[in-house]
Amino acid sequence: VSIRHHISDETIISYASGSLAEGWGLVVATHMALCPSCRQRLAEAEMVGGELLDAVPEIASDKLWLDGLWATQLSRLTGSEEVKVESLPQRPAGQDFILPEPLRSYVGGDVDALKWQPLGLGAYQIRIDTGDGQTTARLLKIPAGKPVPAHSHRGLELTLVLSGSFHDSRGLFARGDMEEVDESLTHQPIALPEADCICLAVTDAPLRFNSRFLRAIQPLLGI
Ligand SMILES: [Zn+2]
Repeated sequence: VSIRHHISDETIISYASGSLAEGWGLVVATHMALCPSCRQRLAEAEMVGGELLDAVPEIASDKLWLDGLWATQLSRLTGSEEVKVESLPQRPAGQDFILPEPLRSYVGGDVDALKWQPLGLGAYQIRIDTGDGQTTARLLKIPAGKPVPAHSHRGLELTLVLSGSFHDSRGLFARGDMEEVDESLTHQPIALPEADCICLAVTDAPLRFNSRFLRAIQPLLGI
């Protein structure tokens, strides 16, 4: 797996400090399960955080609390089977292999058993309940060779490719690649023709579609 698009510094630091809502944590940790380089960056962020706290004795008691949070975040990663991918780089992405932990704990491990809900235009989704009250997490299936309708964002959108690939104005995104998009970008991801593209997408506000028709039916689709 050669991953080209990684987690931003801001998101890594927020994750290291334990301040991300569960939905964001889900997509960040699932990327890390596939990405040794971001796991390394997380370890560095945690080390820097620890050194900062060591330098300020009066908040030493808070450090114990933070250590606990970090240990929790790390255990999510180290408890993951998929972390073993590092030592098995040649293993093909079979059906049993598409959904890494911690995502697997939310939706199960069998892609074929997923209950996809039609979104129209050949696309499908599965909503994932994170219970954090802030984010919406979903699996998206974009049909091979087809676009997701052009849209912009009212908040942040983190998208992790699990299978297949898509491209947009930022480049090509394949398995393990993460795209972080905010209000500044309008984009139209298009799945490459070889295969359907399955992504994990997390947002904190409804998308804004360019099409008036899609905006009208959006509440029905729940996107
Ligand atoms: Zn990465």
